[in-house]
Amino acid sequence: MNVLEVKNLSVRYRDIEALSGVTFEIAAGDYVGVVGPNGSGKTTLIRALLGLMPFDGEITLLGRKIKDFSGWRHIGYLPQKMAFLDQRFPATALEIVVSGLYCRKKFPKTASRSDYIKAENTMELLKIGDLKDRPIGKLSGGQQQRVLLARALTHDPDVLMLDEPTVALDPRSREAFYLTVQALNKDRGVTVLLVSHDTGSVGKYASKLMYLDRSMVFYGSFEEFCKSENMADYFGTSAQHLICHRH
Ligand code: ADP
Ligand code: MG
Repeated sequence: MNVLEVKNLSVRYRDIEALSGVTFEIAAGDYVGVVGPNGSGKTTLIRALLGLMPFDGEITLLGRKIKDFSGWRHIGYLPQKMAFLDQRFPATALEIVVSGLYCRKKFPKTASRSDYIKAENTMELLKIGDLKDRPIGKLSGGQQQRVLLARALTHDPDVLMLDEPTVALDPRSREAFYLTVQALNKDRGVTVLLVSHDTGSVGKYASKLMYLDRSMVFYGSFEEFCKSENMADYFGTSAQHLICHRH
């Protein structure tokens, strides 16, 4: 079954056409890396797929048109890192993770004891159990990012959408992060859509690569990407070699 079907998607911000004519499908169990330069429409794509942006074209998520879609509990979303987490932001790491569960509930929106246990287990899984009682604003960027990942994971989503998840991480935590996501994909069959501007490291983990530059420039495997004449024209042969050589 296709998890996602996108046909001729276009998104505008007033005078900017951020995306035009984007068409692709993602099958259950795929791990798609979305790459492209700054401003190429990656965040816009994710936001449109989550029903957060007006768009032209057609988006079908888990078999439902996006405007009729209600199965948000099957979707996990890690937004691009926000700068607003003030030192004094009045929530602990555990409360942030728990909020990933109760914001999907109908009223009354209160967290149950089992919600807290679930959230704690997810934090253990990501090896951040020791952070649970710390105020979120006092954590490092990398720690905050892992807390937000735990929040996106704690309701066992079937589809995970991650927007630049490793920007605030040092190289070692970055590797650990990618391995965690890979294990979710391989062992639990979670479908992953991961946005990054780092083509090389995404190519290493994802089973498919999408290269966006306001429209779809490439969609296929990393091996196909490295052989693609289209990509050689786009980057120049030497830059393409550099990306593929690091693999
Ligand atoms: P990426 O995530 O690939 O860096 P974005 O999807 O954030 O790219 O942005 C794509 C284009 O849309 C950029 O030119 C950006 O400046 C523009 N854009 C993004 N958000 C807005 C907004 N809220 N209002 C107007 N223009 C926007
Ligand atoms: Mg972005």
